[in-house]
Amino acid sequence: MISMAQVEKWYGSFQALHDINMTVRSGERIVLCGPSGSGKSTLIRCINHLETYQKGEIRVGGIVLSDQAKTIDAIRREVGMVFQQFNLFPHLTVLQNCMLAPMKAIGVGRAEAEERARGLLERVKILEQADKYPVQLSGGQQQRVAIARALCMRPKVMLFDEPTSALDPEMVKEVLDTMIALADEGMTMICVTHEMGFARQVADRVIFMASGAIVEEAPPAEFFTNPQHERTRKFLGEIL
Ligand code: ATP
Ligand code: MG
Repeated sequence: MISMAQVEKWYGSFQALHDINMTVRSGERIVLCGPSGSGKSTLIRCINHLETYQKGEIRVGGIVLSDQAKTIDAIRREVGMVFQQFNLFPHLTVLQNCMLAPMKAIGVGRAEAEERARGLLERVKILEQADKYPVQLSGGQQQRVAIARALCMRPKVMLFDEPTSALDPEMVKEVLDTMIALADEGMTMICVTHEMGFARQVADRVIFMASGAIVEEAPPAEFFTNPQHERTRKFLGEIL
């Protein structure tokens, strides 16, 4: 579904990604973790061309990600993304937030867009808030709307960049439960998160990054009990 081969990325003269090689199969759930500044956001933002990369190759669903607008559009249709700071449109209601992209980007008709949006809002258990504006919702509710909004495009892959780290503790669970339900339905997911309980429960593989490189990857049972690298042990010592 996604492959990255020998990907290198620079911000000016600073190299943010070093020789990234990663394959994610359809239906796989990946948790990406690592210290602040290790390149986790950069890596997942490269997958939907929110960042460009300078060397190597990224493929999504067989399409090679290039700078061509057509290719970028095609890939963004397949890849949903959820950010730490929800990024909902403040001037649109919850329902309108969810209807916008399907109507504008892929020409779904208004009635169908609304039906899709209502169905997904129900799935993330927030349909009763459909006519409110983002500012009227809690952080956890806004994040569930952001997840529903991404799902309205019927993506084949979902990317999550620390979706719970801006939330008050009591709202973390409702968002993680939504993500767990999505995983149970077979969605292909790459999640940047430090929620290690989620990683243990949901991930097929945990990938650990440091200084812009992948240091180690393993199924969670192995990753947490028998990390191979000193850098990984140090990280786990700090967060567990
Ligand atoms: P965090 O856990 O804090 O979110 P991260 O692992 O997501 O960190 P990135 O945001 O990918 O890390 O950043 C990786 C490195 O690239 C950092 O050293 C950061 O300072 C640098 N960087 C990120 N964005 C830019 C940018 N737009 N311009 C220059 N340097 C950047
Ligand atoms: Mg980040």
